[in-house]
Amino acid sequence: MKNSNLTDYPHRRLNILTGEWTLCSPHRTKRPWQGEQSETQEDKRPQYDPQCYLCPGNVRANGERNPDYTSTFVFTNDFSALLEEAPKFDLNEKNLLVAKSQKGICRVVNFSPRHDLTLAEMNTEDIENVISVWQNEFEFLGSKPFIKYVQIFENKGKIMGNSNPHPHCQIWAQEEIPNEPLKELKQFRKYFNKNERTLLQDYLKLELRKKERLVYSNDSFVAVVPFWAVWPYETLIVSRRPISNILQFKKKEKRDFADILKTITTKYDNLFKVSFPYSAGLHQAPTDGREHKEWHFHMHFYPPLLRSATVKKFMVGYEMLAEPQRDITPEYSSEILRKLPAKHYKDMQ
Ligand SMILES: [Zn+2]
Ligand SMILES: [Zn+2]
Repeated sequence: MKNSNLTDYPHRRLNILTGEWTLCSPHRTKRPWQGEQSETQEDKRPQYDPQCYLCPGNVRANGERNPDYTSTFVFTNDFSALLEEAPKFDLNEKNLLVAKSQKGICRVVNFSPRHDLTLAEMNTEDIENVISVWQNEFEFLGSKPFIKYVQIFENKGKIMGNSNPHPHCQIWAQEEIPNEPLKELKQFRKYFNKNERTLLQDYLKLELRKKERLVYSNDSFVAVVPFWAVWPYETLIVSRRPISNILQFKKKEKRDFADILKTITTKYDNLFKVSFPYSAGLHQAPTDGREHKEWHFHMHFYPPLLRSATVKKFMVGYEMLAEPQRDITPEYSSEILRKLPAKHYKDMQ
């Protein structure tokens, strides 16, 4: 296979984590890079917003008052999508109408008391505090007998439908393994049973050798634009060591994870000089009481922006009806991200 085929002609790429395909149409993007010229949207937020229901000391919608927290703050979501106390039921009419009850817990984690500081602008020590909360919550929720899966995710930016700009993430824990990690579990299992190594262990080795899609790496983690990426600037952070969840982080790995989170989010902000929107989340092994040697810890970043701070990629039309499609190649977007400074643009003025 000639590599230029991948840069010149339409093709499909296999997502080895889900087993699904993405259509790539590189011939449509012969236009030069214009990111530097895009208009900037100043994001000037106060350190404290009296109207924000996540800021310290403020009253939330359910009437509870937030403590005057000085680091992170965790609470159960006032409008949880899942409930811990809910009746158990099963519905199945001729395998045509199928439903089952689902118990769960939804938590909110405020990254810091600061209304204006995203991960990109926090220091790594404070990001380590956030990781500590993730570890505590993963352990606490995952050890509940009825919880089989814990999803930690951040939905950042209005464009992603996030209603509150105060930097925070969510943790949803539930009775069953949801669709996306379940697809990955099957792919991980298939590969591990055959090769006795994790799927991402071998994928990472290949990416490190080829150096075509690398964005950033440190001693413990590597960030790439995955070969099968759907979103223009999608990235995947993979641990160098095949660990299955954040409880297995060594001290140095925790620090390195904070470092790569800060660097990737900073590069994102630098791309269009805007507080970069995305949905991101950790993919960890299910908490179903089994050993998951096949699972390899990783984190996905799915940012919607395409050419500027205002042009968004829409998953519509062909994407909704057939399969995801992209124009700019993962190789090209990784090159752009790789070359961006690791220092935040606001600190360079
Ligand atoms: Zn706030
Ligand atoms: Zn994943």
